[in-house]
Amino acid sequence: MKAVYVDNNATTRVAPEVVEEMLPYFSDLYGNPSSMHAFGGSVGAKLTAAREQVATLLGATPEEILFTSCGTESDSTAIHAALQSNPDKRHIITSRVEHPAIKSLGEHLANQGYRVTFVPVDRQGRLDLDFLYKHLSDDTAIVSVMWANNETGTIFPVEEIAREVRSRGIVFHTDAVQAVGKIPINMADSAVDMLSLSGHKLHAPKGLGVLYVRKGTKFAPFLMGGHQEGGRRAGTENTSSIIGMGRAAQLAMDSMEDENTRVKAMRDKLETELLKRVPACMVNGDPENRLPNTTSIAFEYVEGEAILLLMDQHGICASSGSACTSGSLEPSHVLRAMGVPFTAAHGTIRYSLSIYNTEEEIDFIIDKMPPIIERLRQMSPFWKEG
Ligand code: PLP
Repeated sequence: MKAVYVDNNATTRVAPEVVEEMLPYFSDLYGNPSSMHAFGGSVGAKLTAAREQVATLLGATPEEILFTSCGTESDSTAIHAALQSNPDKRHIITSRVEHPAIKSLGEHLANQGYRVTFVPVDRQGRLDLDFLYKHLSDDTAIVSVMWANNETGTIFPVEEIAREVRSRGIVFHTDAVQAVGKIPINMADSAVDMLSLSGHKLHAPKGLGVLYVRKGTKFAPFLMGGHQEGGRRAGTENTSSIIGMGRAAQLAMDSMEDENTRVKAMRDKLETELLKRVPACMVNGDPENRLPNTTSIAFEYVEGEAILLLMDQHGICASSGSACTSGSLEPSHVLRAMGVPFTAAHGTIRYSLSIYNTEEEIDFIIDKMPPIIERLRQMSPFWKEG
């Protein structure tokens, strides 16, 4: 059975062009880019080219690009850098709907004695900007707000927030792991100081992250050791993946239009048809400001995990809106922060498309979902039709 993969916010297929670009760097061109010999030097030159390709995607300069091991490391590095470079400041602002890469770090820092403010969102997942601005203070070392939410696709007004935060002399970081490659981003014309992205969300391999650090931003390395990445991130470079990331950055620029036209149209069709064909379901998140590939749909009175199991029998891969915490299936912190009712949060499925999805696949999902929900509702003690 062929997988119908609509779980691209979890991870993406590595593009064939990316694989092709990477392959020589495993067993033929395997030199260390820091070596003095020409064999290593040729790999170094290829890394320089990849850095330029990533910089072009972000509208940045190559010196502003740091390669890391993942989006999580980029996030940690950004927060760490701001706290280390501003040791007198003990306050951090972030949102209540961040990915665990920021959320868990914020909770950890709160336990370490930092003051951490988690900005709330409304029922649509929109950030309470007045709350955020009211909490900015001379003690604030960094504000970190994600560009787009991984569960609902909701896009935050990051540029507006960055301008306000910057005008107060405070560092602004954004976790743009879900945004890069899906919506245009231009650091040349931005007030963002640091930005994280992750290769495996845009058809590059897993285990490769990028941190953009604006020129002039005070920085302290998270990993210390060798002189790699200009002394800002030690450790021998993941050469093949960085080279793959460079190619993926090029491809992302080429496919941005497809993402925002064809992919968006498929997402809209999936959403519209499911809302039409399945009673008692609704979309989570801001319908206006949303990633083009994502829809989070709550099917009331059924369990997300049960839905996923039945979808899996048809080869359909998606995600639910629950997080397994200590054996209990709690709705995710994102849906809880939005105040999504319990019965809806539990039955939430996230569909996240990519440029590799086809109209036939979307029609297949539209066809398979209504009987799945119907079957589960017949077994649900909470479901009373009409
Ligand atoms: N931030 C967001 C918004 C994400 O969606 C993810 C991955 O799902 C991450 C950070 C973590 O990225 P990585 O898996 O590369 O550590």
